[in-house]
Amino acid sequence: MKLKFPGIRYACLCVLTVLSGWAMPPRQPSSSEILHKIEKLNILGTVLYFAAHPDDENTGFIAYMANEEKYQTYYLSLTRGDGGQNLIGPEMRELLGMIRTQELLQARRIDGGKQFFSRANDFGYSKNPDETMKVWDREAVLADAVWVIRNTRPDIIVTRFPPDERAGHGHHTASAMLAEEAFDAAGDPRRFPEQLKYVEVWKPKRLLWNIGMWAVRNREEFIRNARSYIQLDIGKYNPLLGASYGEIAARSRSMHKSQGFGAVGRRGVDVEYFQFVKGDKPANSLMEGIDTGWSRVKGGDKIPGLIEKLKKGFDMANPAGSVPDLLSLRRELLQLKDPHWKKVKLEEVDQLLRDVLGLYLEAVAESSVYTPGEPISVSLEAINRSEREVAVISINGPFARKDSSVNRPLLTNEPVRLEIQTVVPPRQEISQPYWLTRDIGYEGLFEVSDQLKIGRPENEPPAVIRMQLRVGGELLNYEVPVVYKKRDPVRGEVYEPLVISPPVYTAMGNDVYMFKDGSARKISVTVTAARDNCRGQVRLKLPAGWNATPAAEKFTLDRKGDNARIDFLVTPPQGDMTAEIAAIAEMGGVEYDRELGIIAYDHIPKQVYFPASKAKVVRLDLKTRGREIGYIHGAGDAVPQALQEVGYQVTILEDKDIEPLVLKRFDAVILGVRAYNTRTALAGKQKILLDYVKGGGNLIVQYNTNSELLLRELGPYAFEVSRDRVSVEDAPVRILNPESPVLNMPNKITSRDFDGWVQERGLYFPANWDKRYETVISSADPGSAPLDGGIIYAKYGDGYYIYSGISWFRQLPAGVPGAYRLFVNLISLGK
Ligand SMILES: [Zn+2]
Repeated sequence: MKLKFPGIRYACLCVLTVLSGWAMPPRQPSSSEILHKIEKLNILGTVLYFAAHPDDENTGFIAYMANEEKYQTYYLSLTRGDGGQNLIGPEMRELLGMIRTQELLQARRIDGGKQFFSRANDFGYSKNPDETMKVWDREAVLADAVWVIRNTRPDIIVTRFPPDERAGHGHHTASAMLAEEAFDAAGDPRRFPEQLKYVEVWKPKRLLWNIGMWAVRNREEFIRNARSYIQLDIGKYNPLLGASYGEIAARSRSMHKSQGFGAVGRRGVDVEYFQFVKGDKPANSLMEGIDTGWSRVKGGDKIPGLIEKLKKGFDMANPAGSVPDLLSLRRELLQLKDPHWKKVKLEEVDQLLRDVLGLYLEAVAESSVYTPGEPISVSLEAINRSEREVAVISINGPFARKDSSVNRPLLTNEPVRLEIQTVVPPRQEISQPYWLTRDIGYEGLFEVSDQLKIGRPENEPPAVIRMQLRVGGELLNYEVPVVYKKRDPVRGEVYEPLVISPPVYTAMGNDVYMFKDGSARKISVTVTAARDNCRGQVRLKLPAGWNATPAAEKFTLDRKGDNARIDFLVTPPQGDMTAEIAAIAEMGGVEYDRELGIIAYDHIPKQVYFPASKAKVVRLDLKTRGREIGYIHGAGDAVPQALQEVGYQVTILEDKDIEPLVLKRFDAVILGVRAYNTRTALAGKQKILLDYVKGGGNLIVQYNTNSELLLRELGPYAFEVSRDRVSVEDAPVRILNPESPVLNMPNKITSRDFDGWVQERGLYFPANWDKRYETVISSADPGSAPLDGGIIYAKYGDGYYIYSGISWFRQLPAGVPGAYRLFVNLISLGK
């Protein structure tokens, strides 16, 4: 291979990802896993799987390619899945994207693949690729795909989707179209030449589509033509790993917990089909005609012999006996001119040296949060768990801390601990996900100015200690990220990322404050110190017409972690208005306007981010009737809090509370999103709920999906749950029945009430409803048939049954005035 820009550092994303998942407990591989890794040294093939979302990927294929074929196996998910639904908690949009990013990283840790993303934002359901490409910025996303290809240099690219309507979601179709374009563009030096400062052009051998059975319309015809596709049995069993690829795939897929994708392991033969799309057409196998051995690297001819010797000599009971063989292999690798494979394989060998020595390297900070300019002390621990001679020569870092020589032998199983004192640089960046620097609320494309960050799944650790060790006379360098760890009485040892925070951060209690008339209300701001000795003042930044008393208030916080609450009385202007307010803490002439956000789940590392400390204030005219609401949660949503904001008393109902005497006191009972999908007890409570309606109550049922419904009939009269949706948030809305009380009582609904909606109008609308139901509004996505079933309702006994696919769970927490007015009318029906 010829270098175009000799002397320039080549970024290799595949190597940069080594530190991903740095806030995870260390995991020492067993001898059989080490042998498995040794076998991988001989394989120089690369596969890139290409799709749109976290969870699109075929984890079985990835597990098979990475572990059976032992190729470098990558998954490029164009988006982070921000537009999905969250089955495990309240996080939406960018925060859900952060969760799903980590779920993908966890999945890859299990199946052996490596993960990349583009800057494309998952903006929600998209009906066609044209819309998708427009919102994303086609050229930018294409550039990112080309960047990932040029970095990873795949021999083949495999798409999950076909580039047509069979792919369903517009993001899916677009991903297949972009894969084809990127396949050509990556090898063309005229395309995205700015990347060639860092990478070379790369032309993969072929592109294939991993046919999904969901895309097959005529099954018989498919089976008849099956021989025209490339077939691959990914159902094999790997004795070194003690699992079949189907079992590994299920564990990997089950990491998509926010999407409810827990999977059951498959065992036995499992054939996947591939259709040739582009490049060099193979007759029988995916990697046909591709040299995946060391013969593809100039000067690599001695390496297979060295690997063979290493393999033969590997002793399961004494893995460290392989150190001399690994070192001689390493010396040979250092001679290579090919920068790509040299980097990939050196990385593997250096990790193997660490593995066979049982080398434990860990750097733990005293606390999890530090601020720029703050002193930090880190405890570095190194243990050589082998009989081999190892010494720590020098350490470098964290931050700008310079080389210091240590020269201490690491005697067998004797921990060496070094306490390192340094200071966080005053200009150190705070720990904000690199793709969310402009806060949150993105539409199409995340803004990332640094080319070298594009593609990366997550931030690199803010602090790293570089250690130089001497092993068998050779000098080896290892990077040890600084983490925080603690003992949790239930979970045991818990690792957390090291976080760099602003010195103070503020928080308001709500994301949205509703002012349903002209009267003032209290807004509290909590200010927290992230270091000792914080003194300053807090104020609210308000738009014109709004007033707060006091205008500003002083705070004194002596200790890191201390906080103070400051109450402001805020008066809205006359007339309807939606605006944004911000909480500002001022210290030493500097304004701090960030909040601390934490995402914590057991299946992913803790995520910390710093969104702008702001809230939406909505002044609206809202008349309400009724006061007591019973809420039966489904998958989880923030509608109860949103209703409390406008003065309702909301009681969250447990299964045992769904009894006639309890329900009786409520003006309305509301079912949370996907209640009939997730709340098993409802199957036995349906009669009680309908009797409640009969007796004069209003039952409002929010959307459910049509798969895995607990009941066949959800209402007193028949209707079906369809997959129909209106995914454009400002799709025109037509009023069907202007006389309906839903549009008049107590709030008069006009077309203005459908302005300013977020994300979508609604989803999983009902279809084929009984004629006793009445409809209210109709809406349609551009180019689609109008849907009249956004809200259907029927009088039943003395009360009302209401089913609505309108995405109230998005509109109400976002403070959309018209949605509030309409929803309140549903609660007030017949009152
Ligand atoms: Zn998808």
